Amino acid sequence: MKLAVIGTGYVGLVAGVCFAESGNDVICVDVDTSKVERLSQGELTIYEPGLDHLFKRNREEERLLFTSDLAQAINFAEIIFLALPTPQGEGGEADLSYVLKASEAIGKLITKGDYKVVVTKSTVPVGTADKVREALGKYAQGEVDVVSNPEFLREGVAVDDFLRPERVVIGTDSERAERLMHDLYHPFLLSGNPFLVMDNRSAEVTKYAANAMLAIRISFMNDVANLCENCGADVDKVRLGVGLDSRIGKRFLFAGIGYGGSCFPKDVQALVATGREHNAPQRLLEATEAINYDQKRKIVPRILEHFGGDVSGKRFALWGLSFKPNTDDMREAPSLTIIKELTERGATICAYDPEATNATKRIIGDTIEYSKRHYDALEGADALIIATEWNKFREPDFGFMREVLKNPVIFDGRNLYELDSMRHHKFTYYSIGRPAVKA
Ligand code: NAD
Repeated sequence: MKLAVIGTGYVGLVAGVCFAESGNDVICVDVDTSKVERLSQGELTIYEPGLDHLFKRNREEERLLFTSDLAQAINFAEIIFLALPTPQGEGGEADLSYVLKASEAIGKLITKGDYKVVVTKSTVPVGTADKVREALGKYAQGEVDVVSNPEFLREGVAVDDFLRPERVVIGTDSERAERLMHDLYHPFLLSGNPFLVMDNRSAEVTKYAANAMLAIRISFMNDVANLCENCGADVDKVRLGVGLDSRIGKRFLFAGIGYGGSCFPKDVQALVATGREHNAPQRLLEATEAINYDQKRKIVPRILEHFGGDVSGKRFALWGLSFKPNTDDMREAPSLTIIKELTERGATICAYDPEATNATKRIIGDTIEYSKRHYDALEGADALIIATEWNKFREPDFGFMREVLKNPVIFDGRNLYELDSMRHHKFTYYSIGRPAVKA
């Protein structure tokens, strides 16, 4: 099939590459000309495990093109995916301006006799399909169907999620569009995972409800973690006991320093705004967001308390910058909150992240130091802070760490280490929802 993907960010690039991988011809469009240039020259613009060799192969086999020329893509493609930003607006609602402006521009390029399917992959609030239809319809002269196809991929495992989705959700009232989408997704669902067809509105709500449910679980466990800390329980033991109930399940029950990323924070706020608009207040989500706000700021007061309220002149090693492991995405990363709060108080930070250093530099420049190896960041530091649970941090050489750190102190926002192990290695160790260990 001939496809266009408009917007070549985390979702659009992965979608474009994976659709090409199943034999489709794909043109990816972006307004960011430097991005298009880098991609056209074979340079990936994001870090995502497994993406590089698929990207290389499909470019070499000429199934994958990058351009800033929207007309070229629309003339070429029968199915057009919108993978555009839907950032948070001022009142928390999703800002649809990217999606609607692009829809108008696409509409202008749809000529008499054309049949196109425009598919919203961006996360968009309920009712957006109608707005997209209207924007396209202002100028389109041919026939257009609008499909809502929310994307559930997770950064860090996005390629795997895209190639083997647990479900594909399609919102449409057009049988013709449904058939095309079915054929397109068939190769990704060979294991028998469902292709769910519903109306546009239900598909739009499905995406927000899924993200909101996951965010609720995280905030709930963080609230339980706070209780554990104050009453002497251990949230990781509680998590095991709770998660073994098959009605609950083990996943998304980890306490930590809050969720970040480009989706949960804005999608929770957007669903709260949608609830307000439709007179159905989303009270659980309001609490979810408030808990997360506090949780992202939780580690700093603990650090201050440990250092007697003053961290000026202190040096911290920071392991992990990205909002979660296996991505270079820094959007809403808890590490940024920690960096801001500590540097404002006169501390210096030397950070290490396997992939997100460049992305961090683009946001905060040289306000902190960056090291090339995780152990190098520890040299002369008054303490180590862990903000992201990259696998390479899980089994470090504690003996060596004790030698290079000025003080054997760890503030762990991701509960990477066993308390017994910390006692054994004589570290002072603060984690989330577990008793502190004092060296
Ligand atoms: P992104 O910011 O990484 O990418 C968006 C891209 O669109 C950018 O490259 C930008 O330059 C480009 N763009 C902006 N306006 C354009 C225009 N008029 N024409 C062409 N390109 C244009 O965003 P993302 O993370 O890929 O997210 C895209 C959408 O998918 C959002 O709605 C998001 O909520 C949703 N989503 C994201 C994820 C995720 O994990 N990132 C997962 C599921 C859904």
